[in-house]
Amino acid sequence: MTRAIVDLDAIGHNTTVLTGAAGRAQVMAVVKANGFGHGSVPVARAALAHGASWLGVTSLREAMELRGAGIGAPILMWLYAPDDVLDEALLADVDISVSSARALEALGRTAGRLGRAAAVHLKADTGLSRAGATAADWPHLLTVAGKMQAAGLITVRGLWSHLATAEDPADPGLHRQLLDFGHARAEAAAAGFTGPLIHLANSAAALQLPQARFDLVRPGIALYGVEPIPGRSFGLRPAMTLESTVILTKRVAPGAGVSYGHDHVVERETTLALVPAGYADGVPRRVTGRAEVTVHGVRRPIVGRVAMDQVVVDVGDLPVSAGDRVVLFGAGGPSVDEWAAWADTNPHEILTGIGGRVPRCYRGRSAGKTISTRSPSRPEECALMAPS
Ligand SMILES: *Cc1c(COP(=O)(O)O)cnc(C)c1O
Repeated sequence: MTRAIVDLDAIGHNTTVLTGAAGRAQVMAVVKANGFGHGSVPVARAALAHGASWLGVTSLREAMELRGAGIGAPILMWLYAPDDVLDEALLADVDISVSSARALEALGRTAGRLGRAAAVHLKADTGLSRAGATAADWPHLLTVAGKMQAAGLITVRGLWSHLATAEDPADPGLHRQLLDFGHARAEAAAAGFTGPLIHLANSAAALQLPQARFDLVRPGIALYGVEPIPGRSFGLRPAMTLESTVILTKRVAPGAGVSYGHDHVVERETTLALVPAGYADGVPRRVTGRAEVTVHGVRRPIVGRVAMDQVVVDVGDLPVSAGDRVVLFGAGGPSVDEWAAWADTNPHEILTGIGGRVPRCYRGRSAGKTISTRSPSRPEECALMAPS
């Protein structure tokens, strides 16, 4: 059946590449969205064992999953609504990103009620126009933060922003963001915030922009072994292999229609192999007519529409039979980048789209010590498959 083999040694190797590139900056392993689909807890443990010292997540729920697994490393979470109840974050020592005075004041009330200061990272919007305070709102945010820190309600532990075009060092917008981040830092320093950690860089910036590294870098996609900069290689190793099993084969005559709508009609006699992986498992519906998988070491096309639970592969005259292994992507198969191109998307969407019902099976030296809390896999699902 379909499963995702996650090589934790690759996560470790990629972390080592990133800590090497980061120089004196610390590394925050971004393990949001269930570790980009790989399993946040095992990925976090592997990254921390190889030199990462911070973890980055989107939501409180994701942060609490890490704490619940006994991970004590510093964690930053960055998306919530100002009325969300964040008591758990304060009690579990989870740092919180703050983009507005309103959110800061709400946190201050929580801190006052709990008798416990909130650790915050003030976020500046330097040109992405998502989270963060604009240049116009930044001074007010600093003023409110200064008062609340003096009152013991918050500790400002970080000053940060996020880049829009880090893959392209020639992009003028990138240089404008670096300049605007400089202004935001200068204003913060003038307001008395001289100690907080400064951080800006995602994977691409961590690897190619020394001037964006500051105190801490926040790689996501590179950690999982996808090269973040088109045309450049940093020796990263893909961590995930998505594999499945042929569950039925049949010989069909010319004229046979394949899958819903009969978008594909067989032109010459061939063997069709049924593979139990569909869009609920992360095979995007829009790859129809483009995607290939590897079976018996040979690339063969997915034919007809991708269904929720299954696809059909035209294996031609290869001697494929039920039980044979199929690689959708990863070691011995197409790359995640190829899937992203077939689906007109980025590798991030392919990896985070792997469905919740797909077991994650861990390999590598640290795998034995690892338990995924999100999708605990039964041992038989993760037994080694005979290569076909
Ligand atoms: C997702 C995310 C990252 C990681 O980005 P990559 O491009 O995957 O390295 C870093 N910082 C923030 C704020 C993010 O949301």
